[in-house]
Amino acid sequence: MQKAKLIKVQEVLPWFKEQLRSCTLCPRNCKVNRGKSQLGKCKTGLLAQVAGYDLHFGEESPLVGKGGSGTIFFAQCNLGCVFCQNYTLSHSEKPFPELYPNQIAHIMLELQKQGAENINLVTPSHVLYPIVSSLEIALNKGLQIPIVYNTSSYDSLDSLKKLKGIVDIYLADIKFFSSSSAHKYCQARDYPQRAKENLLEMYAQVGGIKFKDNIAYQGLMLRHLLMPNNLGEVEKWLQFMAENKMYDVYLNIMDQYRPCYLASSYEELNQTITYQEWEKYYTLAKKMGFKYIDEGNQKIFKLLF
Ligand code: SF4
Repeated sequence: MQKAKLIKVQEVLPWFKEQLRSCTLCPRNCKVNRGKSQLGKCKTGLLAQVAGYDLHFGEESPLVGKGGSGTIFFAQCNLGCVFCQNYTLSHSEKPFPELYPNQIAHIMLELQKQGAENINLVTPSHVLYPIVSSLEIALNKGLQIPIVYNTSSYDSLDSLKKLKGIVDIYLADIKFFSSSSAHKYCQARDYPQRAKENLLEMYAQVGGIKFKDNIAYQGLMLRHLLMPNNLGEVEKWLQFMAENKMYDVYLNIMDQYRPCYLASSYEELNQTITYQEWEKYYTLAKKMGFKYIDEGNQKIFKLLF
């Protein structure tokens, strides 16, 4: 199994390297030469900036298990949401340390040694060459645990196709369904179209969520951060998934929105959501027949207050 993954990694590595000469690794298509330190929208050169790594116990329970999710946070981002909850990592003016692939591989192996259930690559879309290079080293040295690709879903379809057989679990955001909202809040008018085609590719590669002893080892997990006044139009994403018979994905309608980063400049974003708003869409997803829906935290708040 890991041998097949290693062969696949070695097969696609030259392709990812080639992309950096005129970068089209994501739909921004900046066409900068990242090998010559030209920077595109993601402000990232040849190497990956790593903002931190840890055993993370705050992810969805099928990723956490007993040992935690072995999370590696890559700095900078190719999307750029004005309400980013991780803005100190994703939109920092000050660069984070650039690590060489052997250093990232060492982190992967260290997380595995500490008991991580998986390697969770957070915001990986713009640093796929260093990631795949690291995986080649780590797999050669005994990396066994599943690889989680934790993405905004603003990836290039070609990149995703190359990850077939390498990524075990896609943990994908679904943000704005309308192009005008995606343009206004993420500067990416094509986000809905790109995300939809990418979700179909991810689902074709790994299918619905699969567990062993309640821990996910393969499949598609989707996150939708419920926005104030449902600006992300979650019901339309649910409809899209239903039309494509994706009832067995793991679905997390997240209740944790709070105004971050530049959100206070937008009146409609400068608020939080209520339990009732979350419950409405959670109930809708249940009624529509989605099998694996995260329970969220709001029920606890209701019991307490
Ligand atoms: S990965 Fe970065 S440089 Fe490459 S196209 Fe996307 S934003 Fe531009």
